[in-house]
Amino acid sequence: MVTKVLQRPTLVLNRNWQPVNVASVARALVLLFNETARVVDPADYQTYTWADWSRLHPRHGERFVQAVRFRLRVPEVITLTGYDRLPRAAVTFSRRNIFKRDRFTCQYCGAQPGSEELTLDHVVPRSQGGESRWENCVLACLACNKRKADRTPQQAAMRLRKQPLRPTWKLLYAGHHARIESWSKFVSEAYWNVELEK
Ligand SMILES: [Zn+2]
Repeated sequence: MVTKVLQRPTLVLNRNWQPVNVASVARALVLLFNETARVVDPADYQTYTWADWSRLHPRHGERFVQAVRFRLRVPEVITLTGYDRLPRAAVTFSRRNIFKRDRFTCQYCGAQPGSEELTLDHVVPRSQGGESRWENCVLACLACNKRKADRTPQQAAMRLRKQPLRPTWKLLYAGHHARIESWSKFVSEAYWNVELEK
């Protein structure tokens, strides 16, 4: 039970309150304890240090961590005090995550025909040495895929709508179940404005 609570996700904001990561409650409490982070109360945006937070009592029915001598409220959102960002966790290179990164949109014509009608396109085709990696794979609709065939966009006179990059913001790829209601206040705007490596 305690372990489960400690594994729950906490949204991590940087000093400017931009979401930068997701950490486990366990890690969030360590950051809080080290005074590297403060808890944000999503209800009123008040922030709490470890000292303040540990003095609060969990409300009735609220999740808590049972420490030796007291119960801790479970933070859902924290803000970093000293660093702009936590070290980023790499996003798994997978078909599913490419669909998410490209928002189920053909990267050539912008069509959104549904996942059945979208294919993974190697920008530089494998036949020309193109590798399977974030920077060389995009979604293409069947029509664009057929038109491009075994050519580079240049050879096919087709333009990519944007340069494919490796996404790094783990939150985007967390399962839906891992999202928490209160996070929407912080991530709604940023949700699809995925931060990408330069
Ligand atoms: Zn297309």
